[in-house]
Order: sequence, then structure tokens, then C-alpha cells
Amino acid sequence: MHKLAQLDHAHVWHPFTQMRDWLRREPIVITSGRGAVLRDVHGREYLDANSSIWTNLHGHNHPKLNAALKRQLGKIAHSSALGFANEPASQLAAKLVEMANGELQMANRDGTRAKANSQFAIRNSQLTKVFFSDDGSTAMEVALKLAYEFTRRTRGPQTKPRFLSLTGAYHGDTVGAVSLGHVDLFHKAFSGLLFKTDQVMSPYCYRCPFNKAKPERTDARESRKCNWECVGKVEAKCAAARKRGNDYAAFVFEPLMQGAAGMIPQPAGWLKRVTDIARGHGALLVADEVMTGFGRTGIADCRLPIADLPRVPRSPRQSEIGNRKSEILFASHAEGVAPDFLALAKGLTGGYLPMAATLTTQAVFDAFLGEYEEFKTFFHGHSFTGNQLGAAAGLASLELLAGEASVKARTRLEADLRRELKSLWSLPNVGDVRQVGLVAGVELVRDWRTREPFALGERAGIRVCEAMARRGVLTRPVGNVVVLMPPYCTTRAQMRRMVGALYEAVEEVLGARTPMSAAR
Ligand SMILES: *Cc1c(COP(=O)(O)O)cnc(C)c1O
Repeated sequence: MHKLAQLDHAHVWHPFTQMRDWLRREPIVITSGRGAVLRDVHGREYLDANSSIWTNLHGHNHPKLNAALKRQLGKIAHSSALGFANEPASQLAAKLVEMANGELQMANRDGTRAKANSQFAIRNSQLTKVFFSDDGSTAMEVALKLAYEFTRRTRGPQTKPRFLSLTGAYHGDTVGAVSLGHVDLFHKAFSGLLFKTDQVMSPYCYRCPFNKAKPERTDARESRKCNWECVGKVEAKCAAARKRGNDYAAFVFEPLMQGAAGMIPQPAGWLKRVTDIARGHGALLVADEVMTGFGRTGIADCRLPIADLPRVPRSPRQSEIGNRKSEILFASHAEGVAPDFLALAKGLTGGYLPMAATLTTQAVFDAFLGEYEEFKTFFHGHSFTGNQLGAAAGLASLELLAGEASVKARTRLEADLRRELKSLWSLPNVGDVRQVGLVAGVELVRDWRTREPFALGERAGIRVCEAMARRGVLTRPVGNVVVLMPPYCTTRAQMRRMVGALYEAVEEVLGARTPMSAAR
């Protein structure tokens, strides 16, 4: 075993990992990367098919990001945001605010424009303030604390703010973020530490009890036969909270696709409907775009007509790109939703450094203003808040994202992914193939005709990913769902190899066995 692998085995405890399994074999030790390729201590190369757990955007070792970091290193790596401002963090905050807003022209549910004073009109839709932290969990923790305190300050100190989030939701691992989540497997052990939040059905069309459609060889959203019962559930939850005299403080959601819940995509129109309902019942909207932000959810999945898209301000030196859909960088915008909190992390620095941001509105900010001795201060912060290296990488990444080359590459990659994924439908152990932009989830089942799931203990997803690794393609499953989330620089040939490895791995690991349902 390589010396570094030995040291790892001796001392490193890995996240979300059964360490007994880990210690059974030599780990892949990554030493370098370029573009979509990772290289290990033995000189073996792998494709990074999940963008290093959903963080990387433009590829590894990117010359522009490297240069920006070196420039910043020549000045300073870190000074504290407690008491001081700094150069790249101020610039990054301004840029994020610019990109996260645009003029949202909202379309109402029936397609007509919302009147400024109507129930569904967007109040406080402008995100003007940025609170920096270090990762997705802390970005959500900040949103949670701010929404909690804002609600108490606006509704009165006797209020007990309560949160509504989606079934299967994952919003991070700090205790607050875990409380917002509903993944039993991760969260049960800590239940004694958590506070109570409510959950409501998420629109998981493939396994929806209200979906009358038979299994078909197409994304379950497309063959869906239902009456939007999932939307009705949100309405019922909000109505019940109102009846109790305690409207939800906030509705917390991942827009367009829930990630760690199992890559669960939302049928077009769901997001707009449920956020209108929640807002109509006085709830703040907390959009967790830790995974979906920065162009991940793609261009084709933007569901608004061009006229209703937010206008993202563009620097004058950029050439005209033509299609405003291509400038949608946040999933909420794809359905014209303007959240009160926007949590960003994974892709914020292009996947280079741990940094996160929680964007919020002037109204929330103002509620924390007062004389010093009123102690309305937001008492929260981290040692590395507003870190210069992270901010410099973030600025460089945003510049790349806005460039024409990135828009073109993402457009092409999204189409390549869509085309390559089609091949998977011929595998009987592939139940659902769901793509939102540059994210795909492939749900493995015993037999697509019955949708019968593998028991988690069978490790079907893990074994398929291990077989992919043997073919030089690295990714990680969520349960029985294999995730493909390529860096934006992935070439057509690399994309083909990623899907090809998945195809072969499913055949090798699951195909040889008789599906239990067929044997019955
Ligand atoms: C990854 C993730 C988080 C947690 O982010 P960390 O950086 O791992 O703390 C929160 N929400 C979503 C949607 C995520 O995908």
C-alpha cells in the first residue's frame, strides 16, 4: 500500500463513511487534477464525474482561477471580517447581489402578471445583503437563524417560529441544518439534539403514490398522471399552520432538484406554485441553492418564457450572447421565484475553496438595525468569514461563468448529457433517468417494470460506483441513485466515457443476477 494511503488509514476519519469498509482496501489517493481528470499517487487517471462532490465548476487546475488565487496570495491570504472590510469580499458581495437579482418580472399562476399589491406579489424580492460563511451547512444555519429572529421581531417576541421543508430534504450537517432536514438515515441518531420542523411531500414523481402512470421508459415527470396532489399538500400544511395561529416563519426548499434526497427533480411549475402558496401564507422563502446554484441546473430547464426572465446585468465588454436563458445562474429564477434567502456554497469558488454566502433582503437586514445597547446585532460569525482567497476564487469563477465560452460549453454539455443518458433506458435495472441541466440521477431498481427498490443494505449504488471507478470514472451514489454531475469543461468524449462506464457497471454488478421479481 502506498505510504500516503497508510497514513490515511492510520489517522484520517472520512465523512459519511463506514470506516470498517474503508480500512479494507487501499484508497484512491488523489495528487493532481486538470480539467475533468483526476490523477492518483500511482499515476492512474480518472474522470471526476461528480465534480468532486458537486463543487467544481470549470475543471481542476484552471489557469484563470489559479492566476486569480496567485494574485491574491501576493497580497494577503486572510484578514478578519470582524472589524475590517477587505477587497475581494466587497467585490464578490456586489457581484453576487447583481447576479442574484435582475428585475424579476413575475408571472402569476395563470400566466398574468402579478399586481404589485396582489397576494402573490413579491415583497422584498431584492437580495441586497450578503453574509459570508464557510460551507453549505453554515450558509443554511445563517438563513435559519436570520429567518427565526426576523420572524420574532416582526410578529412579536411571543412568536414561536416554525419551519416547513420537504420530505427527504438535506440542508447540511450542523444541528440547525439537520433540524431542517428529513433524511432519517443521517438524522435519526441526532434526533435528541434537534428542534422540530414540519415536512411536506416533495414531488418525487417516480415514487409518488398519487402518480397513476405505469412505469415507462422515460423520466417519470414526463409520463406523470396526477392532479398536483403534492401542491395540495403544501396548501394544506400552510392552511393548518394558519389555523393554529402560527403561520410558518419560512418555507425551505431546494429549487428544481433536491440533491442528497436522491436527485429528485420537480415537474415544471411545481416550484412557482408552492412558493406562491407559502408566500401567500406569510412564509419567508429560503432557497437552498448550495447544489443548484451557478448554472448547475442548466439552460434547457429554464421554464419561463424569455419575456419573464430576470434581466441579469452584464458588463459592457461582454459580447451579446443572445439567449437570456443562458444567463440564468440560479435555479429559483428558472420559475421566476425570488427568495428572501439564497444560500450558496459548493460552486461559489468554482470548487476551489470552502466559502459560502447567504444572500438576503434589505427588510431582513433592517430588522437587525438599532442602537448598540438594544443588542439587535446578528450575533453570529466565523473566523474565516469573508476570506480573501475564497473571495478571489469566487470572483474569478463568476467572471468565467458570465463569459460566452462557458455559456457555449454548458449548452453543449447539457445536450451531450441528455443524448448519452438515453442509452441507459435499455437496462432493466435502470428505473428512472432524471436530468435537470447538468445534473443527472439514475435510479437503480430490481426491475423497471415493478420499480421494486434494492434494500439499502445491498449497497447497489455503492457497488455500481465501485465498478465505475475500476473503469476510471469517479462518482458517489445517494442510496440507489447514481449521480452524474460533470465539470463544465467536460468534453463530449469524456461525457461518453462517464455514461458508458455507468452502463457497463450496471450490467456487471446488477445485470448478471436474475431480478428477484422476475424469478418469482
Ligand atoms: C451539500 C449541500 C449542503 C451542505 O453543504 P456543505 O458544504 O456540505 O456543508 C446543503 N444543502 C445542499 C442542497 C447541499 O447539496
